[in-house]
Amino acid sequence: MTGHLKLLLLLTAMTGGFSMVQAKESLNPVAIAIHGGSGTLNKEDFSPEREQEVRQTLENAVRAGHAILSAGGTSLDAITRAITLLEDSPHFNAGKGAVFNSEGKNELDASIMDGASLDAGAVAAVHNVRNPVLLARAVMTASPHVMLMGEGAEKFGRQHGIEFEDDAYFYTEYRWQQLQKAQASPDPSASFLSESPDHWFSTVGAVALDSQGNLAAATSTGGMTNKQWGRVGDSPIIGAGTYADNRSCAVSATGHGEYFIRATVARNICSRVELQGQDLGQAAHEVVMGQLVEMGGSGGVIAVDRQGQIALTFNTPGMYRASIDTSGNVYVAIFRDE
Ligand code: ASP
Repeated sequence: MTGHLKLLLLLTAMTGGFSMVQAKESLNPVAIAIHGGSGTLNKEDFSPEREQEVRQTLENAVRAGHAILSAGGTSLDAITRAITLLEDSPHFNAGKGAVFNSEGKNELDASIMDGASLDAGAVAAVHNVRNPVLLARAVMTASPHVMLMGEGAEKFGRQHGIEFEDDAYFYTEYRWQQLQKAQASPDPSASFLSESPDHWFSTVGAVALDSQGNLAAATSTGGMTNKQWGRVGDSPIIGAGTYADNRSCAVSATGHGEYFIRATVARNICSRVELQGQDLGQAAHEVVMGQLVEMGGSGGVIAVDRQGQIALTFNTPGMYRASIDTSGNVYVAIFRDE
């Protein structure tokens, strides 16, 4: 072995591998944003421990997604990873921490979309599925359909190795008390939406741009406390709660789903970017702070465009959110002014 070759091998070993270094240098910028819901919760409503745990979980999830992107992984894998971490946490209204419906069951909705192919998958009103985003992704990749619901979706999940948990796994005292409070309310519509400070939509979502320039978005939720009649919100509806298209942007929403469905919020934002040439921030602002507010709909969105610009836009006092931009800056926040 020549001295030159030895030196090269030594340097390669020291830097963690020649191909890795090269691969990293040739990667395009990546970006990711996540949300854990929007709402009217104020700082006083949080114990310091809960606030710290929520922030830490958001940071862990956004970093886990970003690690996949910065190693050259896909935006679909990055958002799936971030969302499963949030679904496994008791703090968010998705997976383990899902709210209860009027029958005391956790009824889950989720969707995912690939901006490169415009493939999408969604599930609505499924029970006992540990990670609904994985089931939505299986619908996208292993079925000829876009949306499956209820028992049929669960049967499909069992056939495709999706993990199920018993009811006890999804029980959290906090959510159970929210249901008791909602059911004790004399006004059935107020009980449906829950009252402040529980008027908090803590659905989870993620959007990402990967090094190949591909965008992806996904959303997962337990919907609304005390929901009845098989109510389904915007989260599993492609174009309302979730949308991704490489020609424009990727969006995941959180908020009062009925309004988000009628305003086709996610697609609406992407259309403005694609067809009107609007800047992502302006498009998100016009839809969330303009159109939705005029309709009376509260909530917010996270979005990323093909340049990696990020928008975290909400018309409520707070939104659980985190992002890592194309320069690697990490941002984690709950309340408006931070
Ligand atoms: N958008 C969800 C729904 O209406 C609720 C949420 O964001 O928490 O089901």
